[in-house]
Amino acid sequence: MITMNKVCKVYQRGAEKVRVLQDLDLEIASGEFLALMGPSGSGKTTLLNLLGGLDSPSAGEIVIEGKRMEQMGVSQLSAWRSRNVGFIFQFYNLMPTLTAQRNVALPLLLTPLGRSERKRRAEVSLSLVGLAERMQHRPGELSGGQQQRVAIARAIVTDPTILICDEPTGDLDRESAAEVMRLLQQLNQVHGKTIIMVTHDPKAASYASRTLLMDKGSLVSSSTVAA
Ligand code: ADP
Ligand code: MG
Repeated sequence: MITMNKVCKVYQRGAEKVRVLQDLDLEIASGEFLALMGPSGSGKTTLLNLLGGLDSPSAGEIVIEGKRMEQMGVSQLSAWRSRNVGFIFQFYNLMPTLTAQRNVALPLLLTPLGRSERKRRAEVSLSLVGLAERMQHRPGELSGGQQQRVAIARAIVTDPTILICDEPTGDLDRESAAEVMRLLQQLNQVHGKTIIMVTHDPKAASYASRTLLMDKGSLVSSSTVAA
């Protein structure tokens, strides 16, 4: 469903060229739960940004559901992204002045849906992550784990096929991390979302069906774990 062929990413830093990804080949099946591990600076976030259409490769091709990403224009790419990809980050990135419900409804402002339908879908999404009782709370009134669940509700409110998670448990205590991981597992197994997750935590990675290790811009090993 997602194929990367000889993908390279080079950043220009002043006069210096920084090769961040080198001839990367990767295939991700539809419905897969992939964990990506590796040292800081090895290119994991860069890889996620390419997969999510937030950035484009310097060379090589990325094919998602038959579509060549480098052939999409900027507006086509952003339309594709808002329909197909949900992003979850380490630091939630919620709007502090908005209630959970309004935070979750934000991505729907880019759709033609009316106000009451946006509200309804945000409610459904928050119920799915177990926060039906907290819809009117602001982020400051919620724990870290609850804020991350609001962020997950926001990521799924548009019903994307792919969830891209960059260290989703990186700022959570053990128990909240386990809760977030069980939720991601449910979204994968019950709702069929394809999940690509960067993590430093082997425990979080154990929820994935496959783990890849990155080092200095290359994929160096992989292991498939029984689900
Ligand atoms: P990771 O997520 O594995 O920690 P990143 O993908 O964030 O690694 O970064 C990989 C390398 O690319 C690092 O050396 C980083 O400094 C560099 N890098 C990332 N983004 C940029 C950018 N926009 N411009 C220049 N260098 C960058
Ligand atoms: Mg990173």
